[in-house]
Amino acid sequence: MATESFGFQAEISQLLDLIINTFYSNKEIFLREIISNGSDALDKIRYASLTDPSVLETEKELYIRITPDKENKVLSIRDTGVGMTKADLVNNLGTIAKSGTKGFMEALSSGADISMIGQFGVGFYSSYLVAERVQVISKHNDDEQYIWESAAGGTFTITPDTTGEPLGRGTEIRLYLKEDQTEYLEEKKIKEIVKKHSEFISYPIQLAVTKEVEKEVEDDEEELKEEKEESKIEEVEDDDKPKEKKTKKVKETETTNEELNKTKPIWTRNPQDINAEEYGAFYKSLTNDWEEHLAVKHFSVEGQLEFKAILYIPKRAPFDLFETKKKRNNIKLYVRRVFIMDDCEDLIPEYLNFVKGIVDSEDLPLNISRETLQQNKILKVIRKNIVKKCMDLFTEISEDKDNFNKFYESFGKNLKLGIHEDAQNRSKLAEFLRFFSTKSLEEQTSLKDYITRMPEVQNSIYYLTGESLAAVRDSPFLEVLKKKGFEVLLLVDPIDEYAVTQLKEFEGKKLICVSKEGLELEETDEEKKLREEEAAQFNDLCQTIKEALGDKVEKVVVSNRITDSPCVLVTGQFGWSSNMERIMKAQALRDSSMSSYMASKKTLELNPSNAIIKELKRKVAEDKADKSVRDLTFLLFETALLTSGFSLDDPTSFAKRINRMISLGLDVDEEEEESAPAEDSSAPSAIGIRVDVGNGGDRLDV
Ligand code: ADP
Ligand code: MG
Repeated sequence: MATESFGFQAEISQLLDLIINTFYSNKEIFLREIISNGSDALDKIRYASLTDPSVLETEKELYIRITPDKENKVLSIRDTGVGMTKADLVNNLGTIAKSGTKGFMEALSSGADISMIGQFGVGFYSSYLVAERVQVISKHNDDEQYIWESAAGGTFTITPDTTGEPLGRGTEIRLYLKEDQTEYLEEKKIKEIVKKHSEFISYPIQLAVTKEVEKEVEDDEEELKEEKEESKIEEVEDDDKPKEKKTKKVKETETTNEELNKTKPIWTRNPQDINAEEYGAFYKSLTNDWEEHLAVKHFSVEGQLEFKAILYIPKRAPFDLFETKKKRNNIKLYVRRVFIMDDCEDLIPEYLNFVKGIVDSEDLPLNISRETLQQNKILKVIRKNIVKKCMDLFTEISEDKDNFNKFYESFGKNLKLGIHEDAQNRSKLAEFLRFFSTKSLEEQTSLKDYITRMPEVQNSIYYLTGESLAAVRDSPFLEVLKKKGFEVLLLVDPIDEYAVTQLKEFEGKKLICVSKEGLELEETDEEKKLREEEAAQFNDLCQTIKEALGDKVEKVVVSNRITDSPCVLVTGQFGWSSNMERIMKAQALRDSSMSSYMASKKTLELNPSNAIIKELKRKVAEDKADKSVRDLTFLLFETALLTSGFSLDDPTSFAKRINRMISLGLDVDEEEEESAPAEDSSAPSAIGIRVDVGNGGDRLDV
């Protein structure tokens, strides 16, 4: 069997070039990456052995061993982990692109540091920081031993290893160091790096220390002579002159494996004895993060059930936080100090997938499998505790405003997801929500603070959802509320609407969407009576408009929420808001049956004190069949669609109507007379329509 050649996947090739050619001095991180891969591989075999102990037979001891070979300038790092089959070598080390490859290069070009490589899932390639050539010799239980080799340059080879020393099981990485990188063969240097970056690896990291020792060995010839003499003088044994053995000195090399990471697992220690640096170092080793954590909680639970845990909140979200396919290392599960698994989904709900840490249980069985975990009662209790501790952590973070802002920027979406998913902790999570509002446009406000600002007559929390602050801050829906001094939360994150519709209320105050039907604003009996009387006078107009618009609207009624704009479109209380309709359309759910059911019910609300509406009312009273009424009605309706956050189904006919108005305003004779009926020409200009085009668009006097 001969050597086979492979080309690196294009992006990986590019990455290798970058690693080799970028000037970068902190090269030592390569060792952390190689050790971390060894540790991952050991985790895998350890886990497999829980259900099938025989997998360990090929090599019982689990360790990582670093062997420097000064003579050949080779640094070798071997592990007795799971190893790689030939296919694994081909796939994992060069031919299958990972999303992180590109992500890492982009991050580098925008100022990231090479030491961040581990977070992007391409840590292995950091070996080319120090090596000109790399060999990976690997033995997996399911395959023969193979050698992967590459000096970069776009290709690598795979060769069956028929002559090398059998590994039993696991992987040896042989780094043929560059001429100027031989310092990494020095014991002292290696010890220093392991201490700095890999102290908390939970398998022994050994350093093969070779010493040249001068040994005194008994000189064989002398000994022989002596023996003979001895036998002669047997009778005079109590001679008090000590017998002098004849020895000679020889030089020998002696190799011992010195363990470099002897500290006991940090979570088993007393929190009082652990300093901030140690927590930071443990966090980094756990997560590959290059920055320290934002917050940490180290706790133990005792009683009916016992476990210890350390939970960390990172400073920022990973680049692929919401990439759903990726399994991430969140909480590592240990049972009585033995690593069980990396990404135990049942330990923490999905919305908390940014929380990192470890849990070490005293009660779970060692041979627990993923399948049985789901039903495990102990695990359910642990999970509940973890979630509670997370809430405590968030509360602690919220005590420092700057820290909390950082946290919220990174993980606010997760909290909102939590509101949606975690009914039990919904009200607690709601305390952490922050939104812009009509009274707080620069800085986001909490619901608690909102309540403290509520005028006495106000009973509910009002909100409006939309695409951006600019799109909602001057929305017609806010007119009356602003006038009454009622603050309105402006929710401009797509996920906000999902969250608040689940939340429903906060501290006994209902959350009310101001763009939905049936808005009941706190008003005095007198105000109410006045409003109802006024509304009655508009019955005819409402009816005429409804007839003109047909099934474009469900109802036409008099509004209690606008004071300036002529009209708005509100949606049904339990249907989608205009914002939700926009989001759903963007998600291409437009044609589903759900969409037509949820999105259809629109009510047109008229402002009885608006000049246009008043004039329309007069015209209708005069002559119901006035043709201009229909045209104007459509214009008003379409404009209201825009200002209420909907999109136009038929922008062309809207544009035609507007153009017709413009021509009239400019007194231009239109070529296409037929589309602008002559008898209409005086009507619009006579009532001086002000058309508000879109959100914050220019006002157009026609
Ligand atoms: P990551 O560790 O984030 O997956 P790396 O670039 O460090 O990214 O490693 C790539 C892959 O190569 C690993 O996911 C693993 O499948 C494989 N690998 C690397 N080193 C080893 C090893 N010592 N033993 C077994 N597999 C390894
Ligand atoms: Mg790695």
